[in-house]
Amino acid sequence: MLKKILIANRGEIALRIVRACAEMNIRSVAIYTDPDRYGLHVKRADEAYFIGDDPLAGYLDPRRIVNMAVETGCDAIHPGYGFLSENAELARICAERGIVFIGPSADVISRMGDKTEARSSMIAAGVPVTPGTEGNLSGLDEAVEVAAEIGYPVMLKATSGGGGRGIRRCDSEADLRQQYPRVISEATKAFGSAEVFMEKCIVNPKHIEVQVLADSQGNVVHLFERDCSIQRRNQKLIEIAPSPQLTPEQRAYVGDLAVRAAKAVGYENAGTVEFLLAGNEVYFMEMNTRVQVEHTITEQITGVDIVREQILIASGRPLSYRQEDIQYRGYALQFRINAEDPKNDFLPSFGRITRYYAPGGPGVRTDTAIYTGYTIPPYFDSMCLKLIVWSLNWEDAMDRGMRALEDMRLQGIKTTAPYYKEILQHPQFRSGEFDTSFVPEHPELLNYSEKRHPSEVALAIAAAIAAYAGL
Ligand code: ADP
Ligand code: ADP
Ligand code: MG
Repeated sequence: MLKKILIANRGEIALRIVRACAEMNIRSVAIYTDPDRYGLHVKRADEAYFIGDDPLAGYLDPRRIVNMAVETGCDAIHPGYGFLSENAELARICAERGIVFIGPSADVISRMGDKTEARSSMIAAGVPVTPGTEGNLSGLDEAVEVAAEIGYPVMLKATSGGGGRGIRRCDSEADLRQQYPRVISEATKAFGSAEVFMEKCIVNPKHIEVQVLADSQGNVVHLFERDCSIQRRNQKLIEIAPSPQLTPEQRAYVGDLAVRAAKAVGYENAGTVEFLLAGNEVYFMEMNTRVQVEHTITEQITGVDIVREQILIASGRPLSYRQEDIQYRGYALQFRINAEDPKNDFLPSFGRITRYYAPGGPGVRTDTAIYTGYTIPPYFDSMCLKLIVWSLNWEDAMDRGMRALEDMRLQGIKTTAPYYKEILQHPQFRSGEFDTSFVPEHPELLNYSEKRHPSEVALAIAAAIAAYAGL
């Protein structure tokens, strides 16, 4: 069994991993850069080490992180999500230095991180993929040619993309000519690679993804699916497990496909296979070779602690569950509470949290590293809290979500929470039938009135008086 784990991440996911370690009697080691001196993951881990003033550099330096793991006597590194979680170099250096990387091998990471290579592997395994280019596009001319073959609309996608960035829909040749250089520039800036490829645009699909677990002995199971169709600009906002819109046959089919995909590439550890669903057609989209932001809802419906399983698998243990042991019950929803102002084009709203009360009660879970008085630094992702609710049926889960969002007090910054209350009340959302067009097709949901809490109004008045007196 692993004894001491360095967590190469920050914020809520670092804390999530610290919690798993604490329950398994494993020592946890946090790392932090200057803006994270007061981070909760730093306070809660057994040990914490400073890795530099620059807000980001330390978290993105694989060699430095592995050195730190060796120096502090760790036997493993957990990368969380984002940062170096899909960086094959980190996994490779770990292997060289005798540190266990909690994730798949460097080879599998690089193969699945390259979306065109992942597509080829899936085609070879007999998993249906979105129609599109075999490999990367050589230039605009080829792009125009391929688009004419597969038919508009098409999607231009960064081969190394992630986090919903580097993806553009093109509705015509003129559109494609305009978008092409933009995607190249976005891909180069965000992912350090100018490679792009093309897929047929599946119009208004549902985003369905399957959680898998695979051990070092070749056993692979799935933990059912999540519906992440509630997205804005290809980024997930609300996630649901299981999908309220799959038939039992579709559920069994995507589960089997995901297991087949994982087996085909020799996958090990936790991973997610993402699909697009349109009518009765299912297309493989990509595989994320790490723990996912929304792993929480799968934990709520299955009772399986995914981070714990990741650590057990990395320790060489066989899976704790056979497929037939894994059951799901009820529905879980996760709301990504982002420090953003929905009314102002979701502009980031970083700053000091003047007051935070966590929601509670039955079936409510919050995964966050914020607290009253904490200042959200501007250097990282804007997601500051994950609110997860669970209940036995779909309607009750939505009502519980509404109640928990009302329970929560998060003041000092703007967040996406009030917007989610509007979504939860919308008849189409409540009907459980929606696809990725839901958010763009309902801009009216942004017209909510901002009922400010009396204490917030009092603070604003006090600030105004202070500013006036200062004149
Ligand atoms: P999930 O797939 O777990 O739902 P997201 O796609 O929202 O997660 O990504 C999780 C985090 O990781 C976000 O902060 C996102 O910006 C970041 N991220 C994901 N993939 C990449 C990548 N290839 N390069 C840089 N950042 C990424
Ligand atoms: P990322 O690595 O950024 O998560 P994905 O390939 O998973 O990128 O795509 C993110 C989202 O973009 C999907 O959930 C879906 O909404 C949309 N998308 C991607 N490819 C297509 C496609 N071919 N047709 C329609 N929508 C797509
Ligand atoms: Mg994706």
